[in-house]
Amino acid sequence: MKGIGVSPGIAIGRACVIKNNKAEVTGVLLKDEAEIAAHIHQFDNAVSLSVNEIEATKQNTDIVLHEEDIAILDTQIEFISDPQLRDDVVEKITTDKKNVNDALIATIANMVQLFQEMDDEYIKTRAADIQDIGNRILKHLTKSTPGFTQEFKPGTIIIAEDIAPSDTITMDTRNVAGFATQVGSKTSHTAIIAKAKGIPAVVGCGDNLATIKDNDIVILDGATGLVFINPEHQLIEEYTSKKDTYTSNSDKLKQLKDVRSVTTDGIEIKLLANISSADDLEDVFNNGGEGVGLLRTELLFMDRDSFPTEDEQFEFYKKVALQSKGKPVIVRTIDIGGDKQLPYFGLPAEQNPFLGYRAIRICLDRTDIFITQLKAILRASIFGDLKIMLPMISNIQEVREAKSIITQAKQKLLQANVTFNAAIEVGIMIEIPSAAITADILAKEVDFFSIGTNDLCQYTLAVDRMNAKISHLYDPFNPGVLRLINYVIQQAHQHNIHVAMCGEMASDPLATLLLIGMGLTEFSMSATAIPAIKDILINNDTIKAKDIYNKVMAIDNSDSIIQFLQENTV
Ligand code: PEP
Ligand code: MG
Repeated sequence: MKGIGVSPGIAIGRACVIKNNKAEVTGVLLKDEAEIAAHIHQFDNAVSLSVNEIEATKQNTDIVLHEEDIAILDTQIEFISDPQLRDDVVEKITTDKKNVNDALIATIANMVQLFQEMDDEYIKTRAADIQDIGNRILKHLTKSTPGFTQEFKPGTIIIAEDIAPSDTITMDTRNVAGFATQVGSKTSHTAIIAKAKGIPAVVGCGDNLATIKDNDIVILDGATGLVFINPEHQLIEEYTSKKDTYTSNSDKLKQLKDVRSVTTDGIEIKLLANISSADDLEDVFNNGGEGVGLLRTELLFMDRDSFPTEDEQFEFYKKVALQSKGKPVIVRTIDIGGDKQLPYFGLPAEQNPFLGYRAIRICLDRTDIFITQLKAILRASIFGDLKIMLPMISNIQEVREAKSIITQAKQKLLQANVTFNAAIEVGIMIEIPSAAITADILAKEVDFFSIGTNDLCQYTLAVDRMNAKISHLYDPFNPGVLRLINYVIQQAHQHNIHVAMCGEMASDPLATLLLIGMGLTEFSMSATAIPAIKDILINNDTIKAKDIYNKVMAIDNSDSIIQFLQENTV
């Protein structure tokens, strides 16, 4: 079975299938005022028992509560004590003469539906919180106990349709080796809590998960999302050895967090992270990241009905700036178009969206959108070390035009007496071949380059990065791509500007020494990839890296390059 791997690690154990004891509507109607009063009283009583229970969980010193757990519990208390919830239930009891059980089930079902109909993916997943508080109150009404309170045997893999937020907190997870659920997404609570507790988890496995029975042997890979049921002995052996390697590797890598990122001959290599919001920063610092090499701002524009206002954007960038502990944060201006569409913007369908109206091209055309974003970034720039990065640059005119719009944004702020960092650095992504080939020209116009290998590969090799059929041609080790990357790095050095790489290649361990050999000293990648790259560079020197670089540049095809790197890296 394949689901979404949301908390990495491998679990091998026996299934414990937890069925949701769904509350049933009884259909019994209340007869008189006395019954009505009694049922309202039962509801109030169940509400206070639920709040007390949550408070007791918060006070219970046997349970290790993470920040996320406390936030969930506090939100639950807020929901449970919401007068609107009581009004809705009481109305159904008094007007419709529903018994308290049926009134609560109906009220919760309405609220869950409201949340599920929201466009925002995050808010959608909060429907689980509503269902959860409903179940909690119902539990106190019917005095039933849910299956998650049991004590599990060592090595248990929990199989469930979904796991309610409160269950993930109060469940005794000491013997839980993994979670697999039928529903859920990367932002679901099972995912957040499993990650915080370091328990491998796969969500969104679909209805097939219901075929698993108690005590079935299950292998679960929380990175790839694969779940095997009653596997052959050979597969168990294979995964046992993967599990051992994973455990010893992650223990070793965790210890690298505070180790300085320098090669054995003392060359400092900056390891930065690619993020999409302030929420990602905790992970960055936990993995030893030294700042943000790419803040993708598209998230702020997606999952909404209209463009975010300047103030909304300002709050978003300010939060990132404040939480970045004074480390540099490179904010990339919007990179919409191509594969990233905004439903409310009404971008016309194009024959070749990746070659079309995208990123800086939209910004230079719709200067209103661009100036709003630039003003918001500039306003936030006094709260941290923010820099501006322009995506999809193909020629110098675009850079000059964008810089003049940045000047206009600054002038507007000056006129309004708003403070900002006037000396904010401006850099560009090098992700179009023409930009790479003219790196000598562009370097004179900007403060830094960041090489976006994801797009640079697709444009250099004429391979659509989304097309699985031709994915074998999508190859950063193609000598053509390597020559472009090398040229960009050399030109940045010659013109004394910073150069980093923020495409996926920066997190490929096979490429690390080759890139250092080219002279690259700044890498930006997803936070969890940082320790593995650090592990390579702190165990090697630049003499070896240079040697690898010289030999690779003399090889004429990528298969041989990859083979050479496999034999000579690590
Ligand atoms: C890139 O193209 O390498 C890059 C980092 O940008 P994105 O993947 O967001 O297009
Ligand atoms: Mg790109």
